[in-house]
Amino acid sequence: MEDIYHSIHTFLTEKNVQLVAVSKTKPIDAIMTLYDAGQRDFGENRIQELKEKQPLLPADIRWHLIGHLQSNKVKYIIPYIHLIHSVDSLQLLSEINKQAEKSNRVIPCLLQVYIAKEESKSGLHENEITAVLDSSVYASMKNITIQGLMGMATNTSDETIVRGEFRQLKQLFDQIKEKYFVSSPHFSHISMGMSNDYKIAVEEGSTMVRLGSLLFGNRN
Ligand SMILES: *Cc1c(COP(=O)(O)O)cnc(C)c1O
Repeated sequence: MEDIYHSIHTFLTEKNVQLVAVSKTKPIDAIMTLYDAGQRDFGENRIQELKEKQPLLPADIRWHLIGHLQSNKVKYIIPYIHLIHSVDSLQLLSEINKQAEKSNRVIPCLLQVYIAKEESKSGLHENEITAVLDSSVYASMKNITIQGLMGMATNTSDETIVRGEFRQLKQLFDQIKEKYFVSSPHFSHISMGMSNDYKIAVEEGSTMVRLGSLLFGNRN
C-alpha cells in the first residue's frame, strides 16, 4: 500500500496535482497507514461515516466531502470540513453558508458539474452553474467561497468519451473563471479523476484527483 502510494504521490507532485485519498468504507488502520506515509487529504462520501471516523483520527487531516450532501446534514461537518466537492444546488449552498455563519467559518466549496452520459451521475448543468453565480442569493453569501469545479466522467473503458468529458469540464472551468473569478486566485481547483481515469484527467488539466481503490484496494 505504501509503495503504490509513494509512486502515485510522486507522479502527481511532479504534475502539480493534489491527491485526495478516498477512504470511504475503509477502516481507521488503513487510513493511518497512509497518514503515516505522509498523506493528509482524505475524502469521504457519506456524512454518517465521516462523523464516525473524524474524531478517531488525527486533527490535522484535511477532510474532503465528495458525495451528495443533504441539507439537513450540513451542520455536522461544518466545524472541520476542509473542502466540499459536491455542491449541486443553490439551496445546498445557502444551507452551507447559513451553518458556516453560525460557526464563524468560511467554507471552501466546489460546484459539481454534470459531464457524464449516465443519468446516475449528479451535478449541475452549465446553465445551472451560471444561474447560481448570477443570483443575488449567491452574491450575498459571506461564509462560503467557490474554489472551483468537480466532475465525474462516464464509467466506460472508451477513453475518447472520458477524455472528451474531462476536456469539457476544463473548458467550462476556464470560461467560468474568466467570467466570474478573474480577480479571485481562490478559484483554482478542477477536481477530476478517479482510480480508473486519473491519468487522462491529469493530461486534461485536473488539479486534484480523488483516488480510492487504487490506493486502498477494492471496496466490498
Ligand atoms: C468513490 C469515489 C471516488 C473514488 O473512486 P475510486 O474508483 O475507488 O478511485 C472518487 N470520487 C467520488 C465522488 C467517489 O464517490
